[in-house]
Amino acid sequence: MKLKFIDEFRNKKLVLGFAEKIKEVMPPSQINIMEVCGTHTQSFFRFGLDELLPRELKLIAGPGCPVCVSSQGYIDSAVKLCRDKSVVILTFGDMLRIPGTHSSLEKESACFGNVHIVYSPLDCVRFAKNHPDKKIVFLAVGFETTAPAIALTILSAKKEKLRNLFFLSSLKTIPPVMKELVVDKRLKLQGFLCPGHVSAIIGTNAYEFIAKKYKIACCIAGFEPLDILEGLYLLVRQIVEKRPQVMNQYSRVVRPRGNPRAQKIIARVFKTSDAYWRGFGSIHNTGLKIKKEFGVFDAESEFCIKGESQGYKATKSQCRCADILRGLISPKECGLFSKACTPENPIGPCMVSTEGACNAYYKYHK
Ligand code: SF4
Repeated sequence: MKLKFIDEFRNKKLVLGFAEKIKEVMPPSQINIMEVCGTHTQSFFRFGLDELLPRELKLIAGPGCPVCVSSQGYIDSAVKLCRDKSVVILTFGDMLRIPGTHSSLEKESACFGNVHIVYSPLDCVRFAKNHPDKKIVFLAVGFETTAPAIALTILSAKKEKLRNLFFLSSLKTIPPVMKELVVDKRLKLQGFLCPGHVSAIIGTNAYEFIAKKYKIACCIAGFEPLDILEGLYLLVRQIVEKRPQVMNQYSRVVRPRGNPRAQKIIARVFKTSDAYWRGFGSIHNTGLKIKKEFGVFDAESEFCIKGESQGYKATKSQCRCADILRGLISPKECGLFSKACTPENPIGPCMVSTEGACNAYYKYHK
């Protein structure tokens, strides 16, 4: 569909028309589709699209919130660093309230006052230059979308010969975790609504193995109501016609090979490694760690800590974020949802982050 302006993508008549088209092609049996990206989950409820779809079309929120999938061990490492008086932590805002085993960055910051929010990784370079007497640690959390900007920041720090800026990497890549979901028989997944932002970097080709090897329908979609409904329509048709393939509803942004320049910058600075995902455990080659060549910027070696690899630590919390991130339950099935756990008093990361499923359910679906 060739549309240009945002109000066209939100046009009520067109939106209702697409909802009808989905109903027309829906079979009587249930269809299970996962929206991998947290921004899709937010848009879906924010625009009330759930109320337009047939009951048989089950949408499952996936692990596409980078803050939510960061391990508890990673938060604990950040909290530990925060207690070092020579250190200043720079982070995106959502990380502040994620609970670690015993504390959070927000609580530590109240005591030590050394946690600052940044809006772009590149702000870290200026901050480090302005505070030469401090060790500045940036919490590098995100997927392929964020990784190029962080890689550029590391290259910039090298060019500036900075020796007081470090990165604690929890960067992750999306396609391999989708494989973990496909092989989980409990989910009975038939299709993926693939993330728009990540796909702009990695391209449509990155999902081919899911359609070809695992026979799961894929469609990359944008984030406006019409984008999402058209993406779902294309997925349902693939599933009904039993012709799984990778379709691209978001062709105004996403290309088959993605953004080769961004991929090159990522490959220049990072190497793939195993990474720990909340809810999944360690997944082979899903993380991005800083290459040896840029080791002077690696917080893990500078402070002799294990960030992501610390993984899971058992707690007595009844929070069910792990099951939510795996798509096994919906937020409402957690006994704490909207009672003990609210955005004002979040117990798990899925309620803290604006991309978290519990946060979206609470705000728009409670
Ligand atoms: S509602 Fe709160 S406690 Fe329950 S899974 Fe979500 S974040 Fe965790």
